[in-house]
Amino acid sequence: MLKDFTYYVPVKLVFGEGALNQAGEQVSAYGKKALIVTTGNFFKETGLVDRLQNILKKDGVESLHFSEVDPNPLNTQIDAGAALAKKNGVDVVIGLGGGSAIDAAKAMAIALGHDRPIWDFCDGDDVQEVSDKTFPIIAISTTSGTGSEGTQWSVITNLEKRMKPGIGSDYTFAKVAIVDPELMVSLPPRITASTGFDVLAHAIEAYTSTLATPVTDMMCEKAIRLVGKYLRRAVKNGEDREARNGMAFANTMSGFSIAVGIVTVCHGLAHSIGGVAGTIHGETLAAMTPQTMRFSMKANPDKFKDIGMFLRDEYINIGQYQLEDSVEEVEDLISDIGLDNGLASQGVKEEHIEEIADGVINYMGGSIEIDPMDITKDDLIEIITQSM
Ligand code: NAD
Repeated sequence: MLKDFTYYVPVKLVFGEGALNQAGEQVSAYGKKALIVTTGNFFKETGLVDRLQNILKKDGVESLHFSEVDPNPLNTQIDAGAALAKKNGVDVVIGLGGGSAIDAAKAMAIALGHDRPIWDFCDGDDVQEVSDKTFPIIAISTTSGTGSEGTQWSVITNLEKRMKPGIGSDYTFAKVAIVDPELMVSLPPRITASTGFDVLAHAIEAYTSTLATPVTDMMCEKAIRLVGKYLRRAVKNGEDREARNGMAFANTMSGFSIAVGIVTVCHGLAHSIGGVAGTIHGETLAAMTPQTMRFSMKANPDKFKDIGMFLRDEYINIGQYQLEDSVEEVEDLISDIGLDNGLASQGVKEEHIEEIADGVINYMGGSIEIDPMDITKDDLIEIITQSM
């Protein structure tokens, strides 16, 4: 029997090499003045921002560029981008980049539409609900990645509060996701590795979460198989178009999966660690995924034992030790793509451990509620300690 489920991911996906050329046609359906959000000026320097602006112009869309966003977008940067957009009469927000640029675009669309600081929607005594006032969002992804082009989530960092919560609602899905693998060729090996590992972590977590559905299971399985086949190749040779295509598709499949299956304890920890120690998301996930798998796998063995088989792109599960085999397959991949660094080498200190565990409980509680295993604060502390 299939379990009952609801699957809702209202994103128009435009996928393929050269898909960026369709941006004008797609964006003009939602607005006439766009804010293009990037993390820094890399894409201005490579000419990509100018190229996008010209493509938009051909379909009558004027645009301005906002680049003052950090790789982990700050609430203050979101408010600054929204203020600029308001002053210039922007009616559609485009994230051009990885998860950080796309998340920042989503958050600016919220702040702009509701005319309030973004933190009002994240934390405090009177947390605001995100409504249909949110401006239209277009996601053009250049990493694979966070899957942000396929999710309703926007992850915002507040340095003062040392928090990195994810917010989102049915109104924060991108209207259109443009996934053009050509844009990912310029990703350096280290970022290809860390963002690629994020794809795998999403797929493992959405596949094993208590919110998994038959639809997301299908997409997670495909994503894990593609990561097993292509991530090493994309890290080794960024020009490998077949590998970039495979990883781009895996990324979007993982994104659609976490929109519904959400993420479990490993991502809960990675967000809290990011808030406390400002680590690189994908590297933090790589440090913790083996330990979180070992911790949770006995509560959902049928699913966890599939992971090794998927990573090897096989269709039969042989051998007696399939659970540990799945973890070892993940560990081999981590080592092959050069991410075998513990949390300590990423700047996490012993004195951070308790604050990290509290952060998971205080604002990433959903991730432990939907983990297949019951998880206490002591368990979180043990997982972090083992991942140091
Ligand atoms: P990123 O967006 O932070 O980008 C990392 C770096 O790579 C940046 O300096 C960026 O300018 C550069 N870059 C991006 N594309 C490039 C390209 N094609 N060539 C060269 N350089 C390029 O990285 P990310 O891993 O995609 O995003 C991480 C952020 O996404 C974190 O804040 C994380 O918390 C968040 N996140 C969001 C979701 C979601 O569902 N919204 C899910 C997971 C993570």
